[in-house]
Amino acid sequence: MIILDGKKTAQDLKEEIKISVASIRENNQRPPHLAAVIVGNDGASLTYVGSKVRSCEYVGFDSTLIQLEESTTEETLLEKIKELNQDANLDGYIVQLPLPKHIDEEKILLAIDPTKDVDGFHPSNFGRMALEMDAFIPATPFGIIELLERYKIETSGKHCVVVGRSHIVGRPISILMSQKGSAGNATVTVAHSRTENLANLTRNADIVVMALGIPEFLTADMVKEGAVIIDVGITRVSDDRHPKGYVIKGDVAFDEVSSKSSYITPVPGGVGPMTIAMLLKNTLLAYQRKL
Ligand code: NDP
Repeated sequence: MIILDGKKTAQDLKEEIKISVASIRENNQRPPHLAAVIVGNDGASLTYVGSKVRSCEYVGFDSTLIQLEESTTEETLLEKIKELNQDANLDGYIVQLPLPKHIDEEKILLAIDPTKDVDGFHPSNFGRMALEMDAFIPATPFGIIELLERYKIETSGKHCVVVGRSHIVGRPISILMSQKGSAGNATVTVAHSRTENLANLTRNADIVVMALGIPEFLTADMVKEGAVIIDVGITRVSDDRHPKGYVIKGDVAFDEVSSKSSYITPVPGGVGPMTIAMLLKNTLLAYQRKL
């Protein structure tokens, strides 16, 4: 069994991006610039945004954190988005989700200029991705593809079962893995909460992508010997023995499943770190596409 080390792979990617940024700076050009907008004080969201900003600094990007009050109106947020769309010195930006309930997420998403949508959530990018055109691919599925490529995992002709059909993980990874090309050409089955006999599907899969958000859902009896297991799940589970009062669990019962698998991503340290690295990669792409 080989661990798909997302932490190391993400670090390798960051070093590569850092080198690209250093050469941009040596040519006296402005570096790529990413902004992050956060509305409110949700602890997990603040942590995610904080680490995105720190990663920008690490690779030498310019970064801007825009922190707005929980009570910010939809109108004010839309104004801010208009400003960001018009800012010629900004290559890409993200609006951290979830937004407070009084703000319509779809409206906000549609207002983002697709050429700056480094999260790849705008329908224009999603459609372009599905049509195999140049697009910003959502960072988490993009990170999974990168991991599969870097570890040279054969996907062509393999049966892949994706559990979860969300717009940010399950649906896009199922599209990408069924497309022609690298880390693609798989025969993909998408499962969800209405799927019957899920274990029968996963037991016949060469590759299982778990993206549902139920801790340790995938157990050893649900996988076949030698399967590749990608665990996207991140759930905080209360644990008084831990100083933080919780531990992070994936969707896979790692200890029992790992001994049956050929490759497996750990949680933490698997898909999670790749997500931030791919956001940086998308920002660099946004910068390069402008040139
Ligand atoms: P969503 O809640 O949007 O989607 C969950 C999906 O799982 C849905 O399609 C749902 O089906 C399906 N599902 C729920 N219960 C079952 C079940 N019993 N059997 C089969 N399918 C089921 O989640 P996300 O896609 O946003 O996130 C999934 C997990 O990945 C979460 O733990 C999240 O924290 C994590 N995540 C990790 C990231 C990373 O960087 N590593 C990035 C993004 C998410 P239905 O559609 O029918 O409701």
